[in-house]
Amino acid sequence: MLNIGIIGYGGMGSYHHRELIKKEDGVQVVGAYDIKKDRLDAAKYAGLKTYESLEALLSNNTIDAVLIATPNDVHKDLAIQAMTSGKHVICEKPAMMSTEELDDVILVSNETGQVFMVHQNRRWDNDFLIIQDMYQKKPIGELFQIESRVHGANGIPGDWRHLEKHGGGMLLDWGVHLLDQLLFMVDSPVKEVSADLSYILGDEVDDGFIAYITFENGVKALVEVGTTNFVKLPRWYVKGLEGTAVIDDWDLSGKIVKQTGVIDHHNLVPIKAGQGLTKTMSPPSEDATTTLPIVEVDADYDGFYENFHDVVVNNATPIVKNDEVRNVLALIERIFEVAQSCI
Ligand code: NAD
Repeated sequence: MLNIGIIGYGGMGSYHHRELIKKEDGVQVVGAYDIKKDRLDAAKYAGLKTYESLEALLSNNTIDAVLIATPNDVHKDLAIQAMTSGKHVICEKPAMMSTEELDDVILVSNETGQVFMVHQNRRWDNDFLIIQDMYQKKPIGELFQIESRVHGANGIPGDWRHLEKHGGGMLLDWGVHLLDQLLFMVDSPVKEVSADLSYILGDEVDDGFIAYITFENGVKALVEVGTTNFVKLPRWYVKGLEGTAVIDDWDLSGKIVKQTGVIDHHNLVPIKAGQGLTKTMSPPSEDATTTLPIVEVDADYDGFYENFHDVVVNNATPIVKNDEVRNVLALIERIFEVAQSCI
């Protein structure tokens, strides 16, 4: 049994990870440390041993690993301190604020032999798995255009997420998830990147962004996060050589329209569109396409901690690899570098 101490008993630490760990026999949460007294009280109330200092938690020999679920700017120091104290580490995303920080942490992981593994949970999102399956099995042919978006209208939530020094902003928040999914799916190096960051709400950090990414294999992707979108665009819009798929939201509503017949380009019937006629935008004949439902793909997200346990105990291969995490951080750095601000 691996005993885990939680560092940062906030939203993710107190709820998400506690629930996830309960599902795995080989791991259990035994204690928590937080800089805020009310969060320590919450941990105590939930039956955990609480620690008044980080050092007190890290010097407890019954704790094998720590979960770091604090704001992003302290991930690095906490991870290094934990590993040099003999603890394995599960770290929330974004793993670090930069590739440089991550390199320092990986060095310590290699030197100490302690596992450092990042929680990239959205690799198990059903909507993503469906698109990944389409990318691999090609039911609508080779995907050549991938649009991945999340839109909300609540601005930047919480407190520290508004501040640069804590690693706030949407690129380091939702951006990490969407870019991780994209790089995990598209098996080709990134060739070109252009991007816009938005600062509509007047914060010092981006409240959204659009990034255009071209891969060396020719696939093009648009990744967008918006927090001022009162009408949402679909979560996924992907084009293949033989069809188009849309997934509207996390409820997996959407459809696949697949070309199954020949479109007679010479005999298209024009439609009235606005104050004009068009053949270009008239629908393909009903015989030429088939509409299919979105079908769920099996996922075993509960296996995240099972894998962590196996990595620590049996030297198994981590589901989330540190070089993958580094590639995402490198892409984020490139986006910050090339981005213009659009207001
Ligand atoms: P939160 O603000 O709800 O909780 C953070 C907690 O850390 C707070 O209780 C705070 O007091 C504590 N803290 C701050 N500095 C600390 C320190 N030096 N030592 C110990 N405790 C400290 O934030 P959250 O939403 O739980 O986010 C925490 C981390 O999880 C962030 O890195 C965030 O990006 C990540 N996150 C991941 C997902 C996901 O889907 N994987 C979702 C939300 C947040």
